[in-house]
Amino acid sequence: MIVMKFGGTSIADAVAMRRTISIISKKLRSKPVVVVSACAGVTNSLHQLVDLTEQGEKEQAEQIISALKDRHKNIVDELATTVDTKRPTPDTTDINNTIDKLCNSLWTLTKAHMGGQIPDADKAYMLSCGEYLSSNILGFMMNALGLVTALVNARHFMITTGDHLCAMPEVGEVAKRAIGVVEKAFKNADVVLTQGFMGVTIEGDPTILGRGSSDYSASLLGMVLDADRIEIWTDVDGVCTADPNLVPSAKGIGKLSYEEAAELARFGAKVLHPLSIEPAATKNIPLYVLNSMKPEVEGTVVLNSSCIFDGVKSISYNENIRVINIYSPKMINTSGVMAKIFAVFAQHGVSVDMISTSEASVSVTVDAKVQIDPLVKDLAKFGNITVDRDKSQVSITGKNIIGVKGAVASVFEAVSDSKIYMMSQGSSFLNLSIVVDRPEMITVIRNLHKVFFENGD
Ligand code: ADP
Ligand code: ASP
Ligand code: MG
Repeated sequence: MIVMKFGGTSIADAVAMRRTISIISKKLRSKPVVVVSACAGVTNSLHQLVDLTEQGEKEQAEQIISALKDRHKNIVDELATTVDTKRPTPDTTDINNTIDKLCNSLWTLTKAHMGGQIPDADKAYMLSCGEYLSSNILGFMMNALGLVTALVNARHFMITTGDHLCAMPEVGEVAKRAIGVVEKAFKNADVVLTQGFMGVTIEGDPTILGRGSSDYSASLLGMVLDADRIEIWTDVDGVCTADPNLVPSAKGIGKLSYEEAAELARFGAKVLHPLSIEPAATKNIPLYVLNSMKPEVEGTVVLNSSCIFDGVKSISYNENIRVINIYSPKMINTSGVMAKIFAVFAQHGVSVDMISTSEASVSVTVDAKVQIDPLVKDLAKFGNITVDRDKSQVSITGKNIIGVKGAVASVFEAVSDSKIYMMSQGSSFLNLSIVVDRPEMITVIRNLHKVFFENGD
């Protein structure tokens, strides 16, 4: 069995869906379990819908639902009318009814919560409608093209706990259900299709696993099903030496270790969800990152670290972060202050990314989306607090980079014209991160890329 996950751009429209179906059709002998995201941009629209609903903007909310309905029906029309000439034009009544039903359920919830706070379970349902729409359309089309496909609702097995909007899978429960559900579905089908991103509590409340989490759904499913491989199909040539959208000369990386890929994802490489590596690594399942627009390209394979050479593999970034600096002479020769400071972060539920300390000060980075004013107020009891805004974190990642001669010197060479606010070396020797002014970020990334990947090419 293999698990194949297709992201939003791989199913963005009728043309992309056709390409994806052709990729799947070549893997039938491997028993593919296909996991899909929403069509590109749809989850963003659903977030907008949720915000507009809470703000009481009925007309704009209605427009969003109507645009979503049109977009998905247009995909169906285009797919159905371009079915190959040897096959009869498929009957689109049922799939159009399904789209109507999903959009009606969105409208019902929108009206019910207009101008008020939407309960998290309803919000989770609304946000996951993109995955319901895309999977139903893809499933309809696969069957119309002769690929016998069973669509399985991910909420029949993806049991989660914790926050409804950033839920954590209950691995034991997921395994118990997924194995049976998938086995049964394969009895009458060549392909099993399901949704990423969504989950459900044991009581039956809808949940979601957080933005970009379809990669995680797929990897987890691969783990519990003991898949031979996990394939993450996206819009770039695998994990690259930098984000190809910022560095056009970035190249796909042939091989990465599980540790390197996880570190890259944690430090901003959006191509993989930060939690998507661990399930594959647990069972030593190779995880491939592939380009659905260029299926012939080899892509990246993520596997055991023994197959991987030392050195810098990629540059990643978080574009908008803040640095909180806590200066406190009280820290000198005292123990336990750090624990107290981090207890305040925990009380406010603010997670810290980078940390750098000296005798009398500690600096930490936090995502700019996080509300930090109440936290900063509480931290003031420890000393003088300053906040640097509009900063970016840039990281280099690779196996044993600190042990590679000249790597750190090369970083200094690449950033010699930029102001560095903070520098932090991960304790795993896999990562070195710096904080720079946001307007400088792209230049710093391109300079680092030149130094590490373009010399002598
Ligand atoms: P999908 O919808 O398929 O899940 P994402 O948009 O989540 O796709 O991830 C793919 C995007 O990740 C690419 O288009 C690219 O801009 C971005 N990206 C960031 N860093 C990297 C990197 N190191 N290698 C490849 N892509 C990267
Ligand atoms: N559709 C969801 C999102 O946009 C999940 C995903 O794409 O992985 O966040
Ligand atoms: Mg993604």
